[in-house]
Amino acid sequence: MRVDLHLHSTASDGIFPPAHVVQEAARRRIALIALTDHDSVDGIPEAAATAIQEGVTLIPGVELSCEGEGEVHLLGYGLDVNCRGWRGFLEGQQRERWDRALGMIRLLKAQGCPMDEEEVLGRATHSVSRTHIAQALVAMGKVSSIKQAFAQYLGAGCPAYLPRTPLPVAEAIGWLRQAGGVPVLAHPGLLPMRGDAVERNIRQWREQGLMGLEAHYPGHTTSQSGNFDRLARALDMLVTGGSDAHGATVRPNRMGEGLESWTRAQKERDARALWRVSACKVGELPE
Ligand code: AMP
Ligand code: MN
Ligand code: MN
Ligand code: MN
Repeated sequence: MRVDLHLHSTASDGIFPPAHVVQEAARRRIALIALTDHDSVDGIPEAAATAIQEGVTLIPGVELSCEGEGEVHLLGYGLDVNCRGWRGFLEGQQRERWDRALGMIRLLKAQGCPMDEEEVLGRATHSVSRTHIAQALVAMGKVSSIKQAFAQYLGAGCPAYLPRTPLPVAEAIGWLRQAGGVPVLAHPGLLPMRGDAVERNIRQWREQGLMGLEAHYPGHTTSQSGNFDRLARALDMLVTGGSDAHGATVRPNRMGEGLESWTRAQKERDARALWRVSACKVGELPE
């Protein structure tokens, strides 16, 4: 069974609309996917409708950016996208993204990049991100690639960078649980802390309700994937994996690819374990 539990669409900074993402999963014979847009579940209804048509099994998801000794990303799975308090929280996050983007555009203008706010913000449907600003910088010829836009202007510490308003990990876990979501740590190999601090933080977040680790991720080395896989099992946590595919131009990761470290037998068991604890889901897991 092919599985990809980390995908983006135009509801955040992906290139393809939710329906297209699901169709692409069907084309690639990926049986189980999760749509995990940044601070947005706005793509879920369209993805769910297409999943039913295409016979793809879907777990509604989200990716939250949080603060815990640096930038930490959490994935949430199986949540109820209609939960009122949760929707209010996401609207707040999206507003905060909007204000941050405007601030970054102001900084770019001050540095001689004649940005047009409406053109940049018009690239986003719900959840604006630095990716959209990067796309605008490429379109105006200021940089030759999204990667260069991050390296020169938008990455942490670069001249047009503004941090997000810090959302503590424990608070984000609380919001996910309020919506019935299963909190999983995204790409633990990209955590900003080093050495023992990684495991110390994971153990602490687990006490706060974190339920799994995305051990299998294209940006991890084989040994990182193996270590996080073992750590999750030792701590009795879920093991997940996902490509973080955004569409060709944003990141090189392609749907369903780069997950070879996740052995077939383990993936089957891990996918079923996540499925069982996910409250909301679309379709049935294949036998
Ligand atoms: P934001 O959520 O607005 O802080 O923007 C972060 C997003 O930008 C991430 O989700 C990635 O999709 C993208 N991103 C971050 N760093 C890079 C990079 N070096 N190259 C390409 N895309 C990146
Ligand atoms: Mn992204
Ligand atoms: Mn992420
Ligand atoms: Mn992601």
